[in-house]
Amino acid sequence: MQNPLLNPSDKEDTFEHNVRPASIGEFIGQKKVIQNLSVFIQAAKKRGEALDHVILSGPPGLGKTTLAYIIAHEMGVKMRPTTGPVLEKPGDLAGMLTNLEEGDVLFIDEIHRLNPVIEEYLYSAMEDYKLDIVIDSGPNARSVQIDLARFTLVGATTRKGLLTAPLRARFGIDMRLDYYDVELLQRIALRTAHILQFGITEEGAHEIARRSRGTPRLVNKLLRRTRDFAQVDELDTIDAKVADKALNALDVDQNGLDDMDIRILRAIIENYSGGPVGLGTLAVAVGEDKGTIEEVYEPYLIKEGFMQRTPKGRVAASRAYSYLGLKPKSGDNSDLFNNS
Ligand code: ADP
Repeated sequence: MQNPLLNPSDKEDTFEHNVRPASIGEFIGQKKVIQNLSVFIQAAKKRGEALDHVILSGPPGLGKTTLAYIIAHEMGVKMRPTTGPVLEKPGDLAGMLTNLEEGDVLFIDEIHRLNPVIEEYLYSAMEDYKLDIVIDSGPNARSVQIDLARFTLVGATTRKGLLTAPLRARFGIDMRLDYYDVELLQRIALRTAHILQFGITEEGAHEIARRSRGTPRLVNKLLRRTRDFAQVDELDTIDAKVADKALNALDVDQNGLDDMDIRILRAIIENYSGGPVGLGTLAVAVGEDKGTIEEVYEPYLIKEGFMQRTPKGRVAASRAYSYLGLKPKSGDNSDLFNNS
């Protein structure tokens, strides 16, 4: 199964377009980020300048792309989206950059996956709004300098630690998005149901919210699936009962953990005596990609106190044992973290 947090389908793209908050006032939560961003946007507009370059980091589905669109909207400029892996050759980047007009937003998603050669070109583009391109090769090779419009680069990353220091240093605005609390997610569920013109009770929205791993994208996804269950049951409103039924059918447990979360915790406890176990070994044990475990599953399991990341590897915390109804065996490392 494709992970919806990493690979939204085309149909989801259309849906996202409809439900995605378009302006800063519609964006729910991340209060501090929004407050600061409003100040920076207002100040840049007063000075009649492009906004400084922005780096947005945090787990998938928390609103980085949404914020990039909002920045362009609030600045009244065009948004040009691309992703790190798509920019393969310097020519790809030059094409994007030379099409930008004064103040435009160039959005590079997954910026940590940029080819290092492209990254080097980006430095002078970000700093001096100039692009030095080498054309031709061998004895005919020569460097041409192209002047660029003053643009804003908005980069998004789930792995800020992988950005090189020179790239990181070139972003004047650095913002990190965090998981949302249940009350905010409930508001997002109510808002999305309203846009979809489908009824929902406060309790129904609450049930979906508390099982959505702190992530707006999952709220929207689970809401849509719950609507399917409601419609098949001839209901025109999502209440807590049908939400519970839908989420159970989708294998989303009472804490929002899914099948893969449980497999990860079980593997650490049952195969590796509670850990520590290296990420690569764990990935093979559960049959999931290493990067996906690190970017999608692990941050939430750590935040919720189910596991810990130590220099020697991943360790199951005591909450994982009690959650799965397992007892630590003598020698299990989780005793070190007995915090229940
Ligand atoms: P990211 O780029 O961080 O992976 P997105 O910006 O694509 O996340 O957000 C995923 C979806 O979640 C968006 O389409 C939007 O509908 C919804 N969403 C994200 N943040 C919010 C928010 N603060 N308020 C309402 N909806 C949100």
